[in-house]
Amino acid sequence: MRVVVIGAGLGGLTLAHGLRRAGIDVVVYERDAALGRPQGVSLHVDDRGASALRACLPPAHVAMVEATTGGPREQTLALSEVDGELAVTGTLPSGGVAGRARPGRQVHRPLLKAVLLTELDDVVRFGAEFTRFERGTDGTVRVRFADGRTDTADVLVGADGVGSVVRRRYLPDVRVVDTGRRMIMGATPLRAVLGTGLPGLIGNSAAGAHVRGTTMALGVLRFTEPPEVARRRWLPALRHGAVAGIDDYVMWALPVTQERLGSAAVWCRAGELTVDLPSALRSVVAEAWPEVTVALRIGVIPPMPAWPASPVTLIGDAIHLAPGFGGNLAMQDARHLCEALAAAHRGRLGLLDAIGAYEDTMRRSNSPSAGAKAST
Ligand SMILES: Cc1cc2nc3c(=O)[nH]c(=O)nc-3n(C[C@H](O)[C@H](O)[C@H](O)COP(=O)(O)OP(=O)(O)OC[C@H]3O[C@@H](n4cnc5c(N)ncnc54)[C@H](O)[C@@H]3O)c2cc1C
Repeated sequence: MRVVVIGAGLGGLTLAHGLRRAGIDVVVYERDAALGRPQGVSLHVDDRGASALRACLPPAHVAMVEATTGGPREQTLALSEVDGELAVTGTLPSGGVAGRARPGRQVHRPLLKAVLLTELDDVVRFGAEFTRFERGTDGTVRVRFADGRTDTADVLVGADGVGSVVRRRYLPDVRVVDTGRRMIMGATPLRAVLGTGLPGLIGNSAAGAHVRGTTMALGVLRFTEPPEVARRRWLPALRHGAVAGIDDYVMWALPVTQERLGSAAVWCRAGELTVDLPSALRSVVAEAWPEVTVALRIGVIPPMPAWPASPVTLIGDAIHLAPGFGGNLAMQDARHLCEALAAAHRGRLGLLDAIGAYEDTMRRSNSPSAGAKAST
């Protein structure tokens, strides 16, 4: 079986590892050049993402990820202003609803991506922009790229993110709807805000501050093991640049509307929006790395009726959007699809039955009722 994956993001790379370990021929085509674009600094990985990584990645890769996560996050702290000072005024069990992530750990996203790319040199082709596919009469799929390249696959997987071209070609009725909500996200070196007392106040927990009409989410990533040390111990094949000079930091997020965000540079706008907040929160924004402060557009893909299984399928943001935990769902999809294709590869299921079974699971685990169940 030959599988072509479009997109070397969290889902596509997790799938590539899993398929290769199952003895399936896999190639990943990625539009960007090798180092790609920065896509956020930090990722909260919950049980879904962590178990997918354990199921798909080689043990040394898993050990490297686990050694460099932050401490366990079991709860979300509510922070408010008490006598002019920021204080913990309540705790909420981490529940999987907006503002209350499931229990998990924070990971440094560029490091996770670098780990995922390690030892996949012979699998990932960079600078290859997918444009379209055609289905052959023999059941295979012909895949075409902007530079004229082509490939042929038994299965084509769209892991090409929110703007998925595979989805637009395959399921043209599926639309991404802009909610008008935005999330300003940034990160601040921990040492720059230690004196504010905030890192000590929140420890390893996620925190939601509700102060003077503004909401701000916060979390501290204190690497369990220094990334350079962990690389030497667990995954020496990891690119050295991926661990050089990484330090503990605070990640933060400010939900805003599109109108409130405006068109100013994002870090400057975040500073304006927090100018009236207690000094600890003001400092977190003022001391942030401007170049990693980004505004994330919050979109949704409305639920769609099931479609018949074919040799083309989709994982991750290409087929469902889940602000705050989309990365976990992308890795979970990768695991489920990998298990289904491995069953087909071993002759336990027909190929289309395997893809249909994966798609049923994917639709069920991403339906709004699954989200509600997860939040109880
Ligand atoms: C700032 C920020 C913070 C986030 N925080 C969290 C978090 O804490 N927890 C969480 O679970 N999720 C989080 N997310 C969401 C998470 O990043 C996404 O849900 C996740 O990356 C989706 O993975 P994916 O593999 O589906 O797509 P992506 O990771 O987006 O990968 C898609 C890949 O496809 C490539 N591609 C696109 N089009 C083509 C084409 N035509 N041809 C070839 N390649 C193509 C892209 O270049 C990209 O590399 C965050 C997102 C951002 C931006």
